[in-house]
Amino acid sequence: MKNKQLKIILVSTPIGYLGSGRGGGVELTIISLVKGLISLGHKIILLAPVGSKLPFESENLEIILIDGKDQPSWQRRKKTDPVLIPANSVLPKLWEAVIDLSYQYDAVINFAYDWLPLWLTKTTEIKIFHLISMGAESIVMKETINEISQLFPYQLAFHTKRQSKDYSLSTDPIIVGNGFDKENYFFNENENGPIGWAGRIAPEKGLEDAVKVAIDLGEKLIVWGFVEDREYALKIENDFKKGVIEWKGFLPTKKFQEELGQCRAFINTPKWNEAYGNVIVEAMACGVPVIAYDIGGPGELIENGFNGFLVKPNDIEGMKKATQSVSKIKRKNCRDWFEKNASNKVFAQRVVHWINKGLSENFSKDF
Ligand code: UDP
Repeated sequence: MKNKQLKIILVSTPIGYLGSGRGGGVELTIISLVKGLISLGHKIILLAPVGSKLPFESENLEIILIDGKDQPSWQRRKKTDPVLIPANSVLPKLWEAVIDLSYQYDAVINFAYDWLPLWLTKTTEIKIFHLISMGAESIVMKETINEISQLFPYQLAFHTKRQSKDYSLSTDPIIVGNGFDKENYFFNENENGPIGWAGRIAPEKGLEDAVKVAIDLGEKLIVWGFVEDREYALKIENDFKKGVIEWKGFLPTKKFQEELGQCRAFINTPKWNEAYGNVIVEAMACGVPVIAYDIGGPGELIENGFNGFLVKPNDIEGMKKATQSVSKIKRKNCRDWFEKNASNKVFAQRVVHWINKGLSENFSKDF
């Protein structure tokens, strides 16, 4: 059963096309997983919004592009807001295509943090598996995920334990971590570079704290990322003296990792229950130690003193001191941690294990 070739439909995020940056870390998760699943011999059909591109091809991969309006992201909405589906939305169109194709496939993996695909789990004959990409950012989403956990507990998986704790689940959570293509990240030995920060430019990412650390250290902060919240980005630009931030924009992975690898330390300052934190692992993949607030995913990715340091949330002074001690971390440890825990192959193996168990509905407690 374990080695059987699976035919899987992957349904991309409806927040933006793959490569747009609007989908945040989910975009890279999907791309990495597709490659990992293909390398294990599985057959994939990817449904994604028009404009989506993958940096590779395979006879075991088909991509179907669907046109329609982006879904609004739950991060930008109030917790109490109702479900919203705009006119001509891409989300229902993606799922109409899934319904048409599903009879030819073993399973569907959903990457949308949205109500419709979760609700559809109750109505269809096919098995829809959901890789939940965020903590409980909305009441209606939390309720829906809790309900699916009661009905189909083995069809939900999470990136980290801490993320899953936002929900009231009926069983122990299935944790699949995340994964990245080893071939895309090069180890950089240089210990004397600048300090860096990367992420969507949005309040929950806490960029202002990283800027304060840089100012306290009398250094520049290199910043990469998609500007999701323009007002917030502008406020940061105006609140601090010119020249502290070196804005690099949103770069494709190849260029991003090349620049990231030149840093001597990477700072991560989430203000929310970070589900995972792709940028943390990408920095480590390049050999860059990470200093992060101990909130959500980072606490499960950083082994304090081995591949970086964990600091109490909002503790800017602690962040500064840890950054000053960064030379105590061996850059090789960071790459080693990445290769062992977060390659896309390891990730794909965990996902296949989850899907196989879900299909057989015969989960062992020790997943
Ligand atoms: N990223 C990128 N280019 C950049 C900066 C960031 O492609 O210049 C990507 C990065 O690879 C990561 C994503 O942006 O996959 C951010 O994901 P993360 O999990 O850190 O946070 P999220 O946005 O999902 O909350």
